Amino acid sequence: MKNIVIFGPPGAGKGTQSENIIKEFKLTHISTGDILRHEVSENTELGKKAKKIMDKGNLVSDDIVIGMIKNKIQQSQKSKGFIFDGFPRTIKQAENLDDLMKALNMKIKKMISLEVNEEELIKRLLTRGQNSGRSDDKNQNIIENRIKEYNQKTLPIKEYYKTQNKLDVVNGIGSISDIFKEIKNIIQNL
Ligand code: AMP
Repeated sequence: MKNIVIFGPPGAGKGTQSENIIKEFKLTHISTGDILRHEVSENTELGKKAKKIMDKGNLVSDDIVIGMIKNKIQQSQKSKGFIFDGFPRTIKQAENLDDLMKALNMKIKKMISLEVNEEELIKRLLTRGQNSGRSDDKNQNIIENRIKEYNQKTLPIKEYYKTQNKLDVVNGIGSISDIFKEIKNIIQNL
């Protein structure tokens, strides 16, 4: 099974490249951001709680997202592999994911980290905010807070996977197809 974490700051291109990956390799896409936005649009209790946090650009609690991931994996037991997008975002989430995988006799094979500088990220997110209707992309303060959360809480996970020899770094600036070629190469060789 090709279980992959696609990693990088908000605006690095994780969602875009995940779409290419699932098409090419028929993997199951799990995006915690998409699941949370769905809960918000359905106005569920979880969605109401999450919206307040997401609108500030902060991270939703580990217990909530870990529970969501557990459900998703259990619903897709026949999958050829999972592509985790926007998860894990803290060391606790990464450790829990490892435990969950172990219990199901699976493991994370690779973390692919998309690297994009901060100036370019802010530019991309503000453009996405004009086109996508995502409220957390419309305001520069919220964007900067999301990048701060990423640097403080999420970036340490890169080291977590590096020490397990699972990290591959990809330059996230360039054409979508050129970046995907590099990603494809990495996944093909797993
Ligand atoms: P994303 O679509 O991945 O950029 O996520 C949008 C927002 O959802 C983030 O700013 C967080 O508030 C929340 N979120 C998504 N994934 C996670 C996660 N793994 N842990 C905590 N919060 C998350």
